[in-house]
Formats: sequence, C-alpha cells, structure tokens
Amino acid sequence: MTSAVSRDGWTVRIDAAKVPPMAARDLLDLSLAELEEWCEQHGQPRYRAAQIATWVFRNGVRDAGAMANVPRPLRDEIGGELRIGSATLDHVSRSHDGTRKLLFRLADGATIESVLIPDGARLTLCVSTQVGCGMGCGFCATATLGFTRHLSRGEIVDQYLQARALVAADNADERRPGGGATRGVADADGDGDGDGVDGGDVETGGDATAERITNLVFMGMGEPLHNYDGTVGAIETLTSPWGAGVSPRRITVSTVGLVPEMQRLLAETHVHLAVSLTAVDQDLRRELMPVSRKYSVAELLAACRALPLPRRKRITFEYVMLAGVNDSPAHARALCRALAGIRCKVNLIPFNPFPGSPYGRSDDVTVARFQDVVRRAGIHATVRESRGPDIAAACGQLVAEHRAGTADAAAEGQGA
Ligand code: SAH
Repeated sequence: MTSAVSRDGWTVRIDAAKVPPMAARDLLDLSLAELEEWCEQHGQPRYRAAQIATWVFRNGVRDAGAMANVPRPLRDEIGGELRIGSATLDHVSRSHDGTRKLLFRLADGATIESVLIPDGARLTLCVSTQVGCGMGCGFCATATLGFTRHLSRGEIVDQYLQARALVAADNADERRPGGGATRGVADADGDGDGDGVDGGDVETGGDATAERITNLVFMGMGEPLHNYDGTVGAIETLTSPWGAGVSPRRITVSTVGLVPEMQRLLAETHVHLAVSLTAVDQDLRRELMPVSRKYSVAELLAACRALPLPRRKRITFEYVMLAGVNDSPAHARALCRALAGIRCKVNLIPFNPFPGSPYGRSDDVTVARFQDVVRRAGIHATVRESRGPDIAAACGQLVAEHRAGTADAAAEGQGA
C-alpha cells in the first residue's frame, strides 16, 4: 500500500511495506514468570516454561520446531505467536588482535554494536543498552548520536546469545583443517535458520582450547542505568539458572553515575559496579560530563562511600585520560584524596580519539606517571589497553549508524 503526501508541490510516496510490521512479542523479552503465564494461558503446565527457556537461553535455539521435549502443538503456538530474538547480525569486523565488533540491525532498522575482546584466558563481551546515548559526555563518540531509544531486555540478551553463537562458530572453524577467522557473516548470523542448535556452552564445553565468553560488561553504546528496567531485566535472564546461567560476579555495569539507580542496582543484583568518574573537580566534570549538573562529584562520591558493598567487592572508577585536561600528577593526587575511604580500584583509559573529537590522548609516560601516583596512595590502578583500534572497537568509539539503510556502508568503511 502506498500513500502520497504532497509537500511544496513535490509528492512524497510513503511505501507502507517499509514501515516495520507490528512486532510480535519477543520471547527474549520475557521473564520466567511471564513465560509460565503464557504457558498457562495456552493450557500448558507451568514447567514447560523452564523447558522452553533452556532451549532458548542455554542451547541458543531460535526455532521452536527444534524444542524436542516440548509437545508439537505448543511448539507451533510458540512459532505462531512469539518470535525468538529480533536482532540480525549484520556485520562482523575482525581486528588483528582477535577483537570482534558485531553490528546488529534491530527490528525497527536501528543499529547497535557489541564487542568481543580476548585477553589471555578471558573473553569479554561488551554490550550496548541504548540506541545512541543521552548523557552527552564530551569525549564519547556515541554521545554525538544523541539518544534514540532504550534497548529492550531481549535486545540486550540477544547480543549475548548471538555473540556466544559466533564464538562457537569461530571455534568450529578453527578446528576445521585450514580453518581460521574467515567466516562471512552469512554463516555467523545465528538468525534462526532452522538447524536448531547454535552451539554455545553445550557445544564447546568439552574442548579445552575452545574460546568461550567469560565476562560481560555493560560498556557499549548507551547508559545502562538510564535504561534501568532493560538492563536489570537482561541481567536477570543472563544470570538465572533458567536463563543463560552467567555468574553475576562476571558481569560489570558501567555508569556515568546515576546515583539512585546505582543504589538500586546494588540492592537488586550481585553484579559489579563501575563508575565513569574522569574528573573530581566539579567544574571540570560538569564540563566533560553534563550528568554532573544533576549529581555533583561530592554527591556521587558520598553515595559511593555509602553503598552497601559486600565484603571483598570494590567499585571500579574509570578515568578517561585526556591530554592536558585531567592527566597531571596534581589531578592524580586530587583523585586519590577524593577516593579516600572508598573501597575501590581505578581503571585509567587513555582517550580513544574519533573524528571530530576535541580531545587528545594522554601519552604513555603521562599515563604511567598518573598510575604511579595513584598506586603510591595505596589504590589499585590499572591502565586499559586499547583493543581493536583497526576496527574502531575501543572504548567510547562505538557509533553504529542508527538510521536505517546506511549501516552497511558505515560498517564496511571500518572493516578490518
Ligand atoms: N554510559 C556508560 C557505559 C558506556 S561508556 C558509562 O559512561 O560508563 C564505557 C566507558 O568508556 C566509560 O568509562 C566512558 O567514560 C569511556 N569512554 C567514553 N568515550 C571514550 C573515549 N573516546 N575514549 C576512551 N574512553 C571512553
């Protein structure tokens, strides 16, 4: 169906086929309780919900037809009423250092990115929580997009499921003679092609050399605590025994410092908290991170000091190092004074420049000197290595083109 709108003598045709159809309910958006309710509404015992959830979240199945222990009529009803995942893996960029950037297209055409970062025995998945971001940090590429919308619980969970399937597919590739990181996205998209098993933990469990995702960080596009419900819902699915079964100790949520939501997060989940501090001088932080107008440095740090941290748990403070702005030994000393009495560690992130950014990256000597000052004050301090620079996958560089139709071009331009 086509409707025509006349504007200034021009006729603009709106092709109804290009408007996304009314989205079916996504099974990935449901909690176990909601899935149980759905089963009951369909005349089925509640325990079916756990069976279905195991297929989807443990085994990575995206086709109800493959749920062998679920009665056929129920499989058909699931297939007819619920979709299982709505994100399509559009493109995978591979860095020389093993970092992989995954570009997803969502049902409404928006695009987001996730990043897989290998580091020794670890493989960390960095997920996005919003399309764009509204926090406006002056040193972040995602901020230049502005805020479009929150991701749903299922859209966050789906990034994990599809990344896990990609890792399993890469493992299978490695095992094949002459295999390597040569897979095209057509093989890697895990988009429910009907084969029923995507692999994941089930497939790779017995192979000591196989890679598997060991850590999950909410540090991609968006502010996780602005999308509180989506983030905490996704954490529930990811960490529950009925869900993906990831230990919350292996999950870190990073925030600009939305104080009430930080307090809620620690009360309602067992994940780690990282706070992006970057400056302790209120005037400077206001300039770099507009959120400081709402929650001042003093208020933020007072809240951190009062957080009910379980024993042995520490808050991570991230500190983006901007040349000549916040990277002097005096800034380091001020940071140490500000953090006194907070059980914490500091993660220094040398600024990753992006086109049009007004800041420069602190050089290695400056970073090392800063780190030294912090360490001498008795605070654990690490420097985050920049990963996947050849595919623009590093911290704060994620700028997936979120207008429909241009994502491919954007991704191609950044390919490894
Ligand atoms: N909104 C959340 C999570 C996303 S950003 C937050 O701000 O914490 C993840 C981390 O990358 C944050 O610590 C952020 O300060 C940092 N970051 C943003 N832009 C960056 C850049 N260009 N270079 C280095 N780090 C950056």
